[in-house]
Amino acid sequence: MKLLEDRIREDGQVLGADVLKVDNFLNHQIDPDLMMALGEEFHRRFADAPITKILTVESSGIAPALAAGMAFHVPVVFARKHKSLTLKDNLYTATVYSFTKKTSNEISISKKFLSADDNVLIIDDFLANGQAVEGLIEIIGQAQATLSGVGIVIEKTFQKGRQLLDERQIHVESLARIAAFENGQVVFAPEA
Ligand code: 5GP
Repeated sequence: MKLLEDRIREDGQVLGADVLKVDNFLNHQIDPDLMMALGEEFHRRFADAPITKILTVESSGIAPALAAGMAFHVPVVFARKHKSLTLKDNLYTATVYSFTKKTSNEISISKKFLSADDNVLIIDDFLANGQAVEGLIEIIGQAQATLSGVGIVIEKTFQKGRQLLDERQIHVESLARIAAFENGQVVFAPEA
């Protein structure tokens, strides 16, 4: 998606060998107009799927997931990383290793927000090694819901997440695909 690639070229910062910082439009400050455009693009790409729910993980997935929810007119559920007084019983949970934080987290969703009747579209900000998406897929399995597809804002094709999802024949749409970081610059891969 050209709009997104242009924005990454303009505002993305390459950190080390494999991390892109996009905190002025996605991960800290959020550009709502860009988010709405991403939501519309996800809607266009999954137009044939009977989506009833959008699923993501807090916190960075919430903005693009909400934009997608607005385009599909369906509820958005985000898995929480911390249990609380109001979130402790009747949960679906999965363990997720965080690529950026190098720690494992348990993610949870209240059972009342996902059921066997749901067709779910997973949305996340990044696809790296696929751990976050795998955790959400596990939760969808626990709920016996149907996975309709995975929508990613920024995929890094040089990490193994995309391959894992392709091997499971999951419909994945990534709005920007990064093939490499070279001399601090982003090299994009063609859209799949
Ligand atoms: P995965 O589970 O696919 O290994 O990593 C996905 C999660 O890690 C995303 O939800 C995102 O929060 C974080 N992440 C992975 N790679 C990057 C990156 O290059 N930049 C940023 N900002 N976050 C990333």
